[in-house]
Amino acid sequence: MKNVIIKPIIGIVSPCYNEEQVLEETEKQLRTLILDLVERELISEKSFIAFIDDGSRDGTWEIIQKKANQSVVVKGLKLAGNVGHQNALLAGLLTYNTGADALISIDADLQDDVQIIEAMIQKYKSGIDVVYGVRKERMTDTFFKKNSALLFYFLMKKMKSNMIPNHADYRLCSNRVINALSDFNEVNLFLRGIIPLIGFNKEIIYYDRLERLAGNSKFPFRKMLSFAWNGITSFSNFPLKLVSALGFIIFIICLLMSGYAFTALFTGDTVPGWLSTVLPMYFLGGIQLFSIGIIGEYIGKIYAEVKQRPRYIIDERID
Ligand code: UDP
Ligand code: MG
Repeated sequence: MKNVIIKPIIGIVSPCYNEEQVLEETEKQLRTLILDLVERELISEKSFIAFIDDGSRDGTWEIIQKKANQSVVVKGLKLAGNVGHQNALLAGLLTYNTGADALISIDADLQDDVQIIEAMIQKYKSGIDVVYGVRKERMTDTFFKKNSALLFYFLMKKMKSNMIPNHADYRLCSNRVINALSDFNEVNLFLRGIIPLIGFNKEIIYYDRLERLAGNSKFPFRKMLSFAWNGITSFSNFPLKLVSALGFIIFIICLLMSGYAFTALFTGDTVPGWLSTVLPMYFLGGIQLFSIGIIGEYIGKIYAEVKQRPRYIIDERID
C-alpha cells in the first residue's frame, strides 16, 4: 500500500521532434493548466512540465530554452540525437521520476485532450497507479490509419498482449510504476506493451482525439509500419509459431501428394503435367524464405538487445 498524497508533485513529460510550429501554444496551454491546478491547491507548487527535445533540427530547443528561462514550471531536456518517440519519452520519464509523485506523458502536438489531466490526477489521488487516456473515436484520422490501427490492436490481442486498444502513450504513471519501468532494459522499447505488463491498479479515461494543432505527423506510413512490427515482435513469438505450423501443414500435404505420385508409378498412369512438381517447389521455396525472414527479424532483435547500447544520451538539462 502507498500513502495518498493530498498535493502531489505532478510532472508532465512531452517528447518533441521538430515541433517549433506548435510548441509555443502547447507550452502555454499546459502551463496555464498546471498553474490553475496549483492555484486550486490540487497539486503541489513543485509540479512542472518537461519538454524533451529529441534531436530536433528546427528551433524546438531554442523555444524550450526560452520558455524554461521564463517560467519556473517549465523544464527542458535536450537529447544528443534523434532516438525516436519511445526512447525520448523514456528519457523524460526516467530523468524526472525522482522529482515527482506521478508523471503524465503527452505528445507535443496536443492531439490528446489536456482537459482530462485533472481527472487523471484525481484518479491518482484515489490510489490508482496507472491512468490510461484512451481515444473514444478516431474521427480525425484517415480511413486508412483508423483501419490499420484496428487490425494492429486485433493482432496484438490475439498474441496475448494485454495492451489497451486505442491508447497512445497519453497516460499518468505513479512514481513506483516508473521505478519498475527502469528495470526493463530492452532496447526495442514498446511502452504501450510494457506498462500493462508492470501491473498495479489501473483505470481508463476516454477522450476525443483532436487534429494536430500545426505541423506534420512525424509518423509517415513507413515508420508506423515499423512501429507496429516492433510492437508485435517485441511481445510475442506468435509469428515464429505461425511459420512452423505452416511448414508442418505443408509438409503433410506434400507427403500425401508424394504418396499419390508413388502409387501412380505402379498403376501405370503417370502423374499428368509438370505443374504438380513445379508448383510445390515454388510454393515451398516461398514459405522457406518467409520463415527465414521472420527468424532473421528476431535474430536482429536479439543482436540489438545483446549490444545493450544506451537508449538515449542527454546533452543538456535546464531545470
Ligand atoms: N516524436 C519524437 N521523436 C520522433 C518522432 C516523434 O519525440 O522521432 C514526438 C513528436 O514530436 C510528438 C510525438 O512524438 O510529440 C508523436 O508524434 P506525432 O504527433 O508526429 O505522431 P502521430 O500523432 O501522427 O502518430
Ligand atoms: Mg500526433
